[in-house]
Amino acid sequence: MSWLKCRCGNIIRDNSDYIDYKGHIMPDQDEGDYFDRAEEIIKSDNPDKNSLMFDFLCEINDKIIYQCTECGRLYIEGEEQYYCFMPENHDNKNILKSVHGEKWKGFLHAEWNEKKYEWQEYKGYVCANVNYPCESIHSDDRQEIIDGYYRLLDELKQVGVIRYATLRINEKLIHEWNNS
Ligand SMILES: [Zn+2]
Repeated sequence: MSWLKCRCGNIIRDNSDYIDYKGHIMPDQDEGDYFDRAEEIIKSDNPDKNSLMFDFLCEINDKIIYQCTECGRLYIEGEEQYYCFMPENHDNKNILKSVHGEKWKGFLHAEWNEKKYEWQEYKGYVCANVNYPCESIHSDDRQEIIDGYYRLLDELKQVGVIRYATLRINEKLIHEWNNS
């Protein structure tokens, strides 16, 4: 799902990673099966067990939950639709934020490619998923993307809200910063 319209009129968007109003619910009835499968992979002699574990983590069939940041309604994924739940006697609109709250550290990614794909409006972008207000940059200008990346990385390091950053030019990794 890329977006969902809340009953209050707000559009709940799902077009990036690390969304602070989105979560995953695992039914308790299924949890045991996942632990059993994880244990089975860990204890196996299969030389491919790292990739088996990766596939297993990708395939976990949980339910998506969103919270509207305007009215606080919750939407939980069902088989054919999202079911809406109303808040009662509180106005908590951040219930799906990281368990680390404001201390959660995020990511910065920038990319510029000479060849623009059909679905791309611009050749490059600088995009941060962090607990800090900052605008994404979209541009055809390679230098603007590079300068924007280093400027934003400095700023995000200073305020201490970032753990990992990458800059790619023509699909080659030009710069990487890792603080995790
Ligand atoms: Zn709403």
